[in-house]
Amino acid sequence: MQYEGTVIRPPSEWNSIILQVTVGCSHNRCTFCGAYRDKQFRIKKQAEIEQDLEFAAQYCRRQRTVFLADGDALVIPHQRMVLLFKAIRQQLPWMRRISLYANCRDILARTTEQLAQLKELGLGRIYMGLESGHDPTLAAVKKGANAAEMIKAGQRVRRAGIFLSVTCLLGLGGRQHSLAHAAATAELLCAMQPSQIAILTLMILNNTELAARQQSGGFIMPDQKELFTELRTLVAGLEGIRAQFQANHASNYFSLDGRLPRDKNKFLAIIDRACSGEMLLKTENQRAL
Ligand code: SF4
Repeated sequence: MQYEGTVIRPPSEWNSIILQVTVGCSHNRCTFCGAYRDKQFRIKKQAEIEQDLEFAAQYCRRQRTVFLADGDALVIPHQRMVLLFKAIRQQLPWMRRISLYANCRDILARTTEQLAQLKELGLGRIYMGLESGHDPTLAAVKKGANAAEMIKAGQRVRRAGIFLSVTCLLGLGGRQHSLAHAAATAELLCAMQPSQIAILTLMILNNTELAARQQSGGFIMPDQKELFTELRTLVAGLEGIRAQFQANHASNYFSLDGRLPRDKNKFLAIIDRACSGEMLLKTENQRAL
């Protein structure tokens, strides 16, 4: 397979064939994200993708899922995407699921019918970086979408019958908006009804605009206790939602993993133990992105 630069995939795609169909992220403006800073965005040429598909057809016969990299593969124009999905089905007929990262703009650029067409062709899962449901926070980090657009995009994916996994980022509102960010994110998730919620904790990377803001005093990271209170506010606000809930990413100080609504009280009890200092937490050195 011909990969350009570091290729990032969701943890649950560890056993997937990673087919890099785009390079970088077409948005590439989020102030906290350093993932694709060194990559000039482009959609890969058909011939390059076909070569990788031929390689996968020969050497990846044990894998059953495909993940389309990089940061927002859904940016590929619809008709070209349909042809790509058909090519995957033809070359790798044993595939059970195709997944990709998509941002709000690229989801809203498609109709429910177009998403349903991709679902028919194998698109089983979309990973969407929500980060926050709080409009001032979304604007401050230059996410490129507001809460109402995020809800619309998420609901469209669910209406098309596609599994929707969304990530939320603790700490992103800074100390100033910590609790408002948590409460608005919970409210948005209740309206959106994703299939899976994944919680990460902000780690400020040196190569980002957010690091510069922090150094100039324009952004203050909540401390550990404030982050746990933020998480508690978010979980407490998740009412009437049926979803997988994971806060077991390497960036978090402790793990939560289960289903809502079943495990909500268990989650709250664990967070309370973390708040009161009764739990063994990861050290800063043990955290990672
Ligand atoms: S967070 Fe997502 S949309 Fe924003 S720059 Fe990074 S990859 Fe692109």
